[in-house]
Amino acid sequence: MAYDKSIAAFEEAYKVIPGGVDSPVRAFNGVEGTPPFIERGEGGYLYDIDGNRYIDYVQSWGPLIFGHCDADIEASVIDAVKRGLSFGAPTNVETELAAEIVALFESIDKVRFVSSGTEAVMSAIRLARGFTGRDNILKFTGCYHGHSDSLLVQAGSGLATFGAPSSPGVPADLTKHTLLATYNDMASVEKCFEDANGEIACVIIEPIAGNMGLVPADESFLEGLRTLCDAHGTLLIFDEVMSGFRASLKGAQGITQVKPDMVTLGKVIGAGMPVGAFGARAEIMAHLSPEGPVYQAGTLSGNPVAMTAGLTSLRKLKSNPAIYVDLGKKAKKLVEGFKKAADAVNVPMVTDVRGSMFGFFFSDKPVKNFADAMENDQKMFAKFHKGMLDRGVYLACSSFEAGFISAATTDEMIEESIKAAYETLAEIAS
Ligand code: PMP
Repeated sequence: MAYDKSIAAFEEAYKVIPGGVDSPVRAFNGVEGTPPFIERGEGGYLYDIDGNRYIDYVQSWGPLIFGHCDADIEASVIDAVKRGLSFGAPTNVETELAAEIVALFESIDKVRFVSSGTEAVMSAIRLARGFTGRDNILKFTGCYHGHSDSLLVQAGSGLATFGAPSSPGVPADLTKHTLLATYNDMASVEKCFEDANGEIACVIIEPIAGNMGLVPADESFLEGLRTLCDAHGTLLIFDEVMSGFRASLKGAQGITQVKPDMVTLGKVIGAGMPVGAFGARAEIMAHLSPEGPVYQAGTLSGNPVAMTAGLTSLRKLKSNPAIYVDLGKKAKKLVEGFKKAADAVNVPMVTDVRGSMFGFFFSDKPVKNFADAMENDQKMFAKFHKGMLDRGVYLACSSFEAGFISAATTDEMIEESIKAAYETLAEIAS
């Protein structure tokens, strides 16, 4: 494939945008080649400015569960655009989307909309601190919760790709309240509670981690967190910005029996428009401004165009819950195909699937936490990524990211992708 126009475009971008990108992982730092500059999407495909076509397993990092340019979402958005882009005043569509979310999630009585996952989590943490009157929070190594100061500690995702444990510009005074434990390791959580005398406002977790590759939490681990949080008056926050409406209609909460105190959402609820949300039971949400003293606000929060896109997407999902069975089957078929292609050339690979999310590691042992994920063969991943891209398969450009199937991903696309995996791995092995 030729990438000449993208290479030139990246050079131009580099002159005026740091690293040529507006979000670091897009720069292809951990893999080979130049990021294709995208011209348009259509269903399950992406097209770049050189005219190359790719089967898209990134889907804007999760939001596009119906693929690109879904006719219903597009029509509702155009209709909303015609009535005005933003009012900074209440609209019915916010209430409608909130009501859909409240009806789905047992742990949410009220929900507040913001414009990104980062904002959702940052606000949820402030509310948890305000509600409990405590400063400390506990997160897990390898879980990413956006780039707000308190959470930018051992955060997986783009940071893992760059090998940067944290970021300059984040004062140690802020992160000293962020305790770190090991994913799927109860003893490490108990130690944090002991060290902090139980004075922890909240435990935040991706119940199905997608930012150290796809690494689901064990049910017994989530149960252990629930028990410990209850014993210490600590709030349990499920960050379902990625897994929400992806792992199942109710995200991880449709799979685990464990109920969190607070939930953060994003991605799919905006269908590709900038939306995030956080919700909890009424008693907690009552602490939020203007009902309560914990301040949080946003000029574009609840933007009518973004809310409309999310509402159409969510109603489509709700009206066809069987969609998750189909998405899950396709995800399984894809990674099982990758695994057979790897087996054929004796390259170790482990795979996993949760609903429409999939993951694969070039590793010979199960991945339960970030240290395990770090042991995957990243050089092999880089070669695999390049070979797949050259064959028209667009995978996330880091081994620490989950992949996504959309309703527009067909069986033929999956078969073509598996064929590409056989060819790529045979080429690497030769
Ligand atoms: N939480 C999780 C679990 C995420 O996966 C992400 C983004 N990948 C975020 C928070 C941050 O969301 P955003 O990029 O919209 O700020």
